[in-house]
Amino acid sequence: MAEKEIFYEMLWDCAQCNTRGMLGGSHRHCPTCGAAQDPAHRYFPKPGEEVEAKNHKYVGTDWSCAYCNSPNSAAAAHCTNCGAGQDGTKPVAIIADTVNASIPLPTPAATAPGSHWVRWVFGLLALAMVVIGIMFFTTRETTATVSQRNWERNIQIERMLSVSDSAWCESLPADAYSISRSKEVRSTRRVEDGQDCHDERQDKGDGTFVKNRICSPRYRSEPVYDYLCHFQINRWQTYRTVKASSQDSLVPMWPGVGRLSNTVGTMGPMVTLGAERLGSRHESYALTLTAGGKTWTCNVSEPVWTKHPEETTTPIKVRMTGGVDCGSLK
Ligand SMILES: [Zn+2]
Ligand SMILES: [Zn+2]
Repeated sequence: MAEKEIFYEMLWDCAQCNTRGMLGGSHRHCPTCGAAQDPAHRYFPKPGEEVEAKNHKYVGTDWSCAYCNSPNSAAAAHCTNCGAGQDGTKPVAIIADTVNASIPLPTPAATAPGSHWVRWVFGLLALAMVVIGIMFFTTRETTATVSQRNWERNIQIERMLSVSDSAWCESLPADAYSISRSKEVRSTRRVEDGQDCHDERQDKGDGTFVKNRICSPRYRSEPVYDYLCHFQINRWQTYRTVKASSQDSLVPMWPGVGRLSNTVGTMGPMVTLGAERLGSRHESYALTLTAGGKTWTCNVSEPVWTKHPEETTTPIKVRMTGGVDCGSLK
């Protein structure tokens, strides 16, 4: 701090005659009753009501008279109140500035205690879930008849199509075409934007205080632009699905795909638009079971499905909740 410090008056109240707001640096005695200033009753003024201590010369923290407790300037060899010497005295206590102290966070409101009936409802719900859980895992064995058998197989046919896509221009795919670009926000960056400053007030211990300016940098976020490329690109897309099911044949078989257009391979690495190829295949097998007037449908694997012809019987586990345990089909 190269600049000259400005001193401001601390305030004090007279404990003897109750006069308030006297100046700590200028009024060493109460102007009303003459009582000596008590350093323990010094305090900081409200922000904005600070009075500068004109022509104040700082010589050090006051010393407190060991006999009459009066504060005396560090430059004084004897107490201005009772004449006692400075030897064996101690400096006056420094006052902490509480005006700018942070406000404590509010404590969260206590949660209202749950009423009795709410607890009862939750208790009953939990009990019901436990009972249903037990019933779900408790099974009995019965004999069911295979009343219906279904299967379905399908193959996806993919076609090379022109699709719209976008990417940051720096990572534009090599085979993109019909490219246009636009400026878009890609990220943000932190930019220094001035300073946030406040004053900290420091008791000098002689009835005055000084202000120290504390500053920290302030930031704002700024958008970072980049070029976004919009383009067309040729990609394999699922175009159609061919299906076969138990409506077509009793024995499962893959559907015929017919003739694929512009079959891959003839054009080398560059595949022409409209070319087709086989995509993923899916198959599913279902058995419908009947026992005691009830009917269930189980999705099973192909080997299990094959083992159970129509109108045959099979042992199966039925849950207490009414469903069937499809995993028990062997
Ligand atoms: Zn007084
Ligand atoms: Zn004294």
